[in-house]
Amino acid sequence: MSDDVRVRAAPAPSGSLHVGNVRTFLYNWLHARHTGGKFVLRIEDTDTSRFTEEAYHAVLEDLRWLELDWDEGPEVEGPHAPYRQSQRTDLHKRAAEQLLADGAAYRCYCTKQELDERRQQAMAEKRRPGYDGRCSRLTAGQIEAFEAEGRASVVRVRVPNVGQSTYEDLVIGEVKTDLEQIDDFAIVRSDGAPLYHLAVVVDDGMMQINHVIRGDDLLSNTPKQILLHAALGNPVPRFGHLPQVLGPDRKPLGKRHGSTSIADFREAGYLPDALVNFLALLGWGTADDTIMNREDLIARFKIGDVHPSPAMFDTKKLDWMNGEYIRLLSDDELTRLVTPFYLKAGLIGESPSPQEQAKIEAATPLIKTRIRRLDEASALVRGLFGRVDIDQQAGAKVLGADHVGELFTRTTQALGAVQPWDKENVEAALRAVAEEMGLKPRTAFAPFYVAVSGSTVSAPVFDLMTLIGRDECLARIALAQEFSRALQA
Ligand code: GLU
Repeated sequence: MSDDVRVRAAPAPSGSLHVGNVRTFLYNWLHARHTGGKFVLRIEDTDTSRFTEEAYHAVLEDLRWLELDWDEGPEVEGPHAPYRQSQRTDLHKRAAEQLLADGAAYRCYCTKQELDERRQQAMAEKRRPGYDGRCSRLTAGQIEAFEAEGRASVVRVRVPNVGQSTYEDLVIGEVKTDLEQIDDFAIVRSDGAPLYHLAVVVDDGMMQINHVIRGDDLLSNTPKQILLHAALGNPVPRFGHLPQVLGPDRKPLGKRHGSTSIADFREAGYLPDALVNFLALLGWGTADDTIMNREDLIARFKIGDVHPSPAMFDTKKLDWMNGEYIRLLSDDELTRLVTPFYLKAGLIGESPSPQEQAKIEAATPLIKTRIRRLDEASALVRGLFGRVDIDQQAGAKVLGADHVGELFTRTTQALGAVQPWDKENVEAALRAVAEEMGLKPRTAFAPFYVAVSGSTVSAPVFDLMTLIGRDECLARIALAQEFSRALQA
């Protein structure tokens, strides 16, 4: 085997990826890119009752969206294809036969009932309730009798009862396990289906994976897999176990904390570069590290520097970072990325007219400095795409004040005389009226936000007023004037 790093992402596809798993895949990807190694994608879809084609495609789509490109794997293919575990069952079965022939594994004929009874008894006697290794001691005659009876059997690995399994974890350091604690675990079901440990070890071996970097929820599997690698004559890979990603309550990040799937983050308008930057720093890097593009991350990432303690997912930090990445986009890029959000919010149609397109483009500089996520843009520029009903709450709060009637009347006159209609002149006209009436800018301008956008949340009102044009502006002020009168009646 060459010394080049070969790592893998091995998702069991159940729809859009969990962000914690993506952090794991990202660390594998960074480790491969930093060392000039290979990043392999293997889809662990053996449990066909659970996995759908749709879920499989969702995984590929998520990784592509995140731009975590794989060197070998589905659709890319490579020397160790197929890369879908469900298509490798024969290889797994063949390995099980080899282990049986070598004596590293044996057939176990115990029935479920027998196992249950012995478990109960062990518990009653305060012994460890694991498998007692009974079938590892069967004579040839007993085996023959069970076979003649037609008894079903599973295949179990012969685990030594004494000694320790020791390895140096890339992240958490030395891990020692007493072999006595490990049962003779099953690797093939009674229906002949290979089980997880067998499939993963055979595939990692054949794909020449030499660094297995995965979540620490899989830590207890490692001594078993090291035994299996050795039994199969594979070079044993190095293992690295990543601490979990926690929510703010210090429990593993889950649905109750809000968004967890990549699809959720995509729909909320996070950018892949921002998410990658944020996830990379979730358990790696120094306190001073903030914005780091992919090149920086690849240059600096070292798997040995991953923090051995759990990381906390801080949505506020992600939002801040995403905003920073939005500001790094060119106007054209931001326009392209935000357009689907306008469509979803009903601001534009499927294929925008040239007028709509002009508005989409005009909106971009207005939102660019003001949003942290793309899904926040629509609310700010809604008024640009057409009239918006006045929000009752905002209307009642802002348009009910005594000065609003006069403010609207005076401004309507002033705006009628603005020449030419540009932002500078519109703003000057509004400021002049505010000054004449002795109003603070905030008090004077709030009614125009509501008149133009229907609410107090919006991109700067002078820009919007300029963009929608004088007639539309005056029409909206007239409607807001009516709303204001109705409040006072
Ligand atoms: N397919 C396994 C999972 O999704 C990961 C296997 C492994 O990393 O060993 O949990």
